[in-house]
Amino acid sequence: MREKNQMKQWLNTFTPKKVMVCTQCQTKFRFPVKPGKTLNVTCPSCRASYQISFVNPLVQLLQGRLNWITLNKTEKKKLFVLFATIVIAFGLIVSSFLNPIKPSIDQTQGIEHVL
Ligand SMILES: [Zn+2]
Repeated sequence: MREKNQMKQWLNTFTPKKVMVCTQCQTKFRFPVKPGKTLNVTCPSCRASYQISFVNPLVQLLQGRLNWITLNKTEKKKLFVLFATIVIAFGLIVSSFLNPIKPSIDQTQGIEHVL
């Protein structure tokens, strides 16, 4: 039983949380991050409610819920950078498999030797 509780505590430390400042009373409060969901957060001190969306535009796009045309310029740019990063990373992984790293030989010294 005790071990289970410790496990829960340990897991809780890894639960992403966000701090929000209430615009009504400036109270800082924390709420859990729920990716892909829209949360209704209520301020603990003045009961002002906020709707916080954790919906990732990329996920929405992949699920076909979001149209590319509806994205604004900065969102498009972000997605493009993300996509380019994935492509480059993937390319590096593939090329490292195709061309295993060989022990490097100093090229300039090699040429001097031949001459
Ligand atoms: Zn408040």
